[in-house]
Amino acid sequence: MQTTAQAELSSFELVRHYFHLAADELALQDDLRDVLLRPYREVQVAIPMRLRDGRIRTFSGYRVQHNGARGPFKGGVRFHPEVDLDEFRALAGLMTWKTAIAGIPFGGAKGGIDCDPRLLDAAELEKLTRAYMQRIDKVLGPTRDIPAPDVNTNAQVMAWMMDEYGKGHGYTPAIVTGKPIALEGSYGREAATARGLVYLFREAAPTVNLVPSEATVAIQGFGNVGSWVGRLMQQLGARVIAVSDATGSIRAERGLDTGALAAYVRGGGRLAEYEADGVEAIGGEEFLATPCDVFVPAALGGMIHASNVHLLDCRLLLEGANGPTTPQADLALQERGVFIVPDVMANAGGVVVSYFEWVQNLQHFRWDEREVNERLGTIMRRAYREVSERAARKPGTSLRVAAFSLGIERVVEAARLRGNF
Ligand code: NAD
Repeated sequence: MQTTAQAELSSFELVRHYFHLAADELALQDDLRDVLLRPYREVQVAIPMRLRDGRIRTFSGYRVQHNGARGPFKGGVRFHPEVDLDEFRALAGLMTWKTAIAGIPFGGAKGGIDCDPRLLDAAELEKLTRAYMQRIDKVLGPTRDIPAPDVNTNAQVMAWMMDEYGKGHGYTPAIVTGKPIALEGSYGREAATARGLVYLFREAAPTVNLVPSEATVAIQGFGNVGSWVGRLMQQLGARVIAVSDATGSIRAERGLDTGALAAYVRGGGRLAEYEADGVEAIGGEEFLATPCDVFVPAALGGMIHASNVHLLDCRLLLEGANGPTTPQADLALQERGVFIVPDVMANAGGVVVSYFEWVQNLQHFRWDEREVNERLGTIMRRAYREVSERAARKPGTSLRVAAFSLGIERVVEAARLRGNF
């Protein structure tokens, strides 16, 4: 996908690049790399739909199942006009490594539709979602592949998918995660990705001599992940001083009231037009150049790249988005001493609580939010410890390479034990 900020590598090339860096560390042979890079199954479907203006538009739907050696395929459903098969291949692969790094029993998948949901009304969106589910239903199942929300999809979309699946299979809440609470969704799922990021921020902060309650934070993207990171960072006592989204950027040196801002955006307000005491609208470059302790990319892939990385002025990069940093930018930041907590570990909180939701659904038993958050913390801290210990074994190894190599090692071990190759 090409974002407004031009990426020099596609997501597909980006994930492959990081995979090979880690595979080099592991001295993995070429034949094994080929097995591990190739998706197990790719489904592409045509979804013709009559829109309210009378025209028929044929959308493309996708589901890519990358690797299932460690458990059922797991990954989000993204609705975006620029998605394509390569993008889903990359994101599905990222899910395989992410679930392995987090140590939860899932493989990796990703899918979605090449639509712009902003141009569809609720009835059209529901029709499209149900038609997509009908077409990919055959490759899904609570022990096969369990979708979840991603960019531009939410609990309502999951509820429609569950309902559609139920028509053929009976009531099956474990078929999707990220559902509404009223339909056996899990407490804590909505904020889970952000909560996981904040848990890791607390682990990583001492490495760059940061006290979490005194940190300043800039957040790129103020949707689910970004807005929850904002609120949870503020709860820690950190100051969120700049935020951007697709409509523009704002800054508030004394700190934003992220709860009020989230409510404003959720109510349909445009971030760039947000008015409050001490808040000013700024340009995109000015936003990136805001001096801060922590920069959190929480928008789309490839947004920190060779031509804008020089603008960043932070000590810690906490990657909420998938694939936000291109390899050139990653190197440039490392050379400048910026500590990077990589996406493949940092944003695993969502899939970890999705795992909890699936476990609860299989038992039709609900945990309270405190239990969900505590168990999430345990898993995130364990992943951080395992990845940092691995990185420390060889000086100069980044957390990204250590994380990928840990994930790859676990998938190879599972595949070998199962006799998959
Ligand atoms: P979302 O759709 O809720 O939010 C995306 C945000 O990015 C919106 O605020 C949008 O305005 C903003 N954005 C789009 N283009 C932008 C631009 N050019 N500049 C600045 N902001 C821009 O999506 P989300 O669920 O919050 O996901 C955000 C990222 O986090 C994605 O990369 C997604 O894959 C990743 N992620 C999400 C989850 C999850 O649980 N939701 C889990 C893991 C990873």
